[in-house]
Amino acid sequence: MSINLLDFDAKGLTSFCAEIGEKPFRARQLLRWIHRAGEADFDAMSDLAKGLREKLSAAAVIEPPKVISDHTAPDGTRKWLLSVGAGNGIETVYIPETSRGTLCISSQVGCALACAFCSTGRQGFNRNLTVAEIIGQLWWANKALTETFTSEAGRERPITNIVMMGMGEPLTNFENVVTSLDLMLDDNAYGLSRRRVTVSTSGIIPAMDRLRERCPVALAVSLHAPNDALRDQLVPINRKYPIRELLGACERYLQSAPRDFITFEYVMLDGVNDSVAQARELVQLVRDIPCKLNLIPFNPFPDSGFRRSSANAVSRFRDVLMEAGLVTTVRKTRGDDIAAACGQLAGKVLDKTRRAPRSIAEAAG
Ligand code: SAH
Ligand code: SF4
Repeated sequence: MSINLLDFDAKGLTSFCAEIGEKPFRARQLLRWIHRAGEADFDAMSDLAKGLREKLSAAAVIEPPKVISDHTAPDGTRKWLLSVGAGNGIETVYIPETSRGTLCISSQVGCALACAFCSTGRQGFNRNLTVAEIIGQLWWANKALTETFTSEAGRERPITNIVMMGMGEPLTNFENVVTSLDLMLDDNAYGLSRRRVTVSTSGIIPAMDRLRERCPVALAVSLHAPNDALRDQLVPINRKYPIRELLGACERYLQSAPRDFITFEYVMLDGVNDSVAQARELVQLVRDIPCKLNLIPFNPFPDSGFRRSSANAVSRFRDVLMEAGLVTTVRKTRGDDIAAACGQLAGKVLDKTRRAPRSIAEAAG
C-alpha cells in the first residue's frame, strides 16, 4: 500500500521528505498544495520540478475518502456521506450561519461508549478513522464549499469553525485526532484558530489531560445529567470516570485552554433529565467552574426509547440556569430533514448487492 500524504501533519511530511532525500521546505510546499489548494494530483503542483513530481508519484498518493452522496437541506445544512471502505460510511455536516460556517467532523466508524440516547452508540464500535479519513472530511468540504462559496456570506472563508461532534468519541482515537487538529490549526494548511476548533468528549479523563498538554483547543464535555446515578445510565463511561473527577479534569484543562470556559452539553430528554429540580442540581454541580451550558433538544431516531423534551420544559430548564448566572444556549436543530442533526449520524452501510447507501436503521428494520 502506498503512503497517503493526507495522513501526515507538518512534522510527518517533513520526515517523509527527509526519507526521500528532500529538504524540509518541500514539506511546506506540499502542505500548501494539498490542504490550501485542495490538490490531489502531483502533476498539477506547478512549482515542484518534474523530477520531484515523478519521485512523489512513485512514493506516495494523496487519497481522501470517496464521496458517496452530497445533500443540502432547505436550511442550507449540507451533509456528505464518505466511503471509508468495507461497506462503511461516515458523515460530515456543514452548518452555515451568518457570521460563521461550522463543519462537524466524525472521528470513528461507530462508537464503543454506548450512550443510551445516541444512534452512533447503538451501532457499536467498528474502527478508528485514519488521519486521512478525518482530515479528508475537511479537505472535501473545503474544496466543495470554496467552489460554490460566494462573498455574499460576508466572510472570507466558508469554514471558520470545526466541531469534533460527528460520529465517534474523538478522545479514544487520540493520536489520529491530534494529528488532524495540528493540520486544522497549521497556517500552511487550514489555519483555523484554536478557539474555533472544538473537541467534544463524553469525558475520557486521561485523554483530556493529554489533549491539554499536546494540543489545547476549545473543549465541550457531554454532561447530560446532574448526578452520577443518572449519568451512569445515560453515559455509561461515567461508571469509570464519574462526575467529580470529570469536573476536576475540566478545571485542569482550563489552565491551558484557549478559551476561558468549558462548554457543557446537555441533551434534553423528556421526563428523564429535564425537570426544574434537576436544573437546580445542575447549577449546584457546575457553579464553581467557568462554563457555558448548551442544551440540545434530543434528536429522535427509530427505537431510541426517548422523547425530546417539550419546548416548555427546555425553556423552564434554561431559565433556572440563567437565573443562577450560567450562560446557557439552546442548540437550534438543523438539518433534521436530511438526518444530519446531532446524534442522528447513524452511519451508513453500503449494501454491496445494491451498491446504494442505506442506513443501519433501514437495514435493521
Ligand atoms: N462522542 C463525543 C462527540 C460526538 S456526539 C461526545 O459524546 O461528546 C456530539 C454531541 O451530540 C454529544 O454531546 C452527544 O451527547 C450529543 N448527542 C448524541 N446523540 C444525540 C441525540 N440523539 N440527540 C441530541 N444530541 C445527541
Ligand atoms: Fe459515542 Fe458520543 Fe454517541 Fe456517546 S454520545 S455513544 S460518546 S458518539
